[in-house]
Amino acid sequence: MSKLFNPTFRISFGLMGLTISLILSAYAFGLIPDGRKVEIDARAKIVEALAVQLSNAASRNDIQSIQETIADVVKRNETILSIALRRANGKVQIAAGDHEKHWIEPDNHNSTPTHLQVSLTNGTTVWGKIEFAFVPLETSIGFAGIPNTLIAFIVFLGAVGFILYYILLRRALREIDPENVIPERVRAAFNTLAEGVLILDKHGLILLANNSFANTINKSPKALFGTKIEDLEWQQMSDRTSIIEHPWRTALRDQKPIKAIKMGYLFDDDSPKVFLVNATCILDEKGKASGIIVTFDDVTALEKKNDDLVLAIEKLQKSEDEIIKQNRELQYLANHDPLTGCLNRRAFFERFEIELETASLANINFSCFMVDLDHFKSINDTFGHAIGDDVIAGMGEILKATSGKRSLVGRYGGEEFCVALIGRSRDESQWIADNIREQMISLSPTWLKSDRYITASIGVAVRPKNVCSVKALVDWADKALYEAKDTGRNKVVFWDQISKADVPETNNFPEIAARQ
Ligand code: GH3
Ligand code: MG
Ligand code: MG
Repeated sequence: MSKLFNPTFRISFGLMGLTISLILSAYAFGLIPDGRKVEIDARAKIVEALAVQLSNAASRNDIQSIQETIADVVKRNETILSIALRRANGKVQIAAGDHEKHWIEPDNHNSTPTHLQVSLTNGTTVWGKIEFAFVPLETSIGFAGIPNTLIAFIVFLGAVGFILYYILLRRALREIDPENVIPERVRAAFNTLAEGVLILDKHGLILLANNSFANTINKSPKALFGTKIEDLEWQQMSDRTSIIEHPWRTALRDQKPIKAIKMGYLFDDDSPKVFLVNATCILDEKGKASGIIVTFDDVTALEKKNDDLVLAIEKLQKSEDEIIKQNRELQYLANHDPLTGCLNRRAFFERFEIELETASLANINFSCFMVDLDHFKSINDTFGHAIGDDVIAGMGEILKATSGKRSLVGRYGGEEFCVALIGRSRDESQWIADNIREQMISLSPTWLKSDRYITASIGVAVRPKNVCSVKALVDWADKALYEAKDTGRNKVVFWDQISKADVPETNNFPEIAARQ
């Protein structure tokens, strides 16, 4: 399409239009002879001359001469179909040719180009008239009142003129091809470069495109010549929207080299090429910008590799995150009881060991709770194992919420839990244990969906001042729990209340004392 409507075509078309306009203007000013008018004038002259001749004969009443003359005229003149002499009373006195057939009386007794009439007078009285029937005029009227002959002439001149203009322009443009402004050896030098090179004039028109650039965008250097560089399918790389300012425009405006601007070139198949574009302004001897050299480094393959690499890194990062997440989940599952979310027995005692040692070294309050639900077997029997599970999970929630973040809650087994309460005094331990027991009573009816409630028995052992083992502390708490069970359940029993040993001393540190 663009190849067909090239500049030569357009200029030829323009010249053709100009020629037609000139002919029409000349016609409008009456400078072109009107064939129709000439024809009508010629007919009028024949009629006039014959009328004078016949009028003389009529005045002599020389009917014989009139008859011979009109017959002779009709015979000799092909444009005359018939002539008749009609008397004032409307009767045809003499006729040559088939006058009845050819004669049509014009309106208002005026002549028409094909039917002309002249009155014959005898002094002051009208003697009659001579009627002439002519063949239709050769020159007919066409579009917009322009004679058809002129239209045919315009069409001919337009078509032949266009072809001739086109041929002439092509030859002329070849002779004065502005591409020749760039010497052949300069062009050859540019063509040896692997980089794409464009030389633009200051309006951004391409004066030279080297082979490398033209090949990259699937065009020929010749086709690119004279094209406005912005008319190529450039695309901004960052967000792929329209380009705010092309680098060559910036280079021209600031008269400074612009380097390594990443630009995309869009192809029909939607896979853009990526170029690193450098633009340098060409200055004339007066220091004024006269053009721009633009170079294009095709980095499409590199860019693709970079994109692939980024994708691969992203994928790797994702799978690494996934592994970390799964490890965390695995670790959680390995250390926690799935029903209650409390630490399982192994994890609980691993941490218990560390925390007890830290507490002993730093002399921090530490107590151990053994918590067991009362008559839980009957709950299972009455409400079912699933409800029993809900109760055990609820128990875990109460213990975690009540003992605080710093403490450890472990599921010891079945409906039995062990708590390592860290940083709490003996009185606080008492308060917390009672709170656990009370919450059990108040929350359990909801879990059981009944007005029955569940109680819990708690045995507590407080870390003594002197060093003690995990085993000893848990054992003491367990014994205290049995005491609670034996003495009626739903109660809190401290080991020091039942042991014969010395009552362990509580370390009231300032932070704890403040809470008391
Ligand atoms: P008490 O402790 O007051 O002496 O009586 P108890 O009925 O609670 O006695 P015991 O400790 O012997 O029974 C605990 C019951 O807890 C036995 C078992 O069926 C039930 N149990 C243990 N683990 C689970 C569990 O994970 N889910 C449910 N629903 N029940 C459990
Ligand atoms: Mg029990
Ligand atoms: Mg039990």
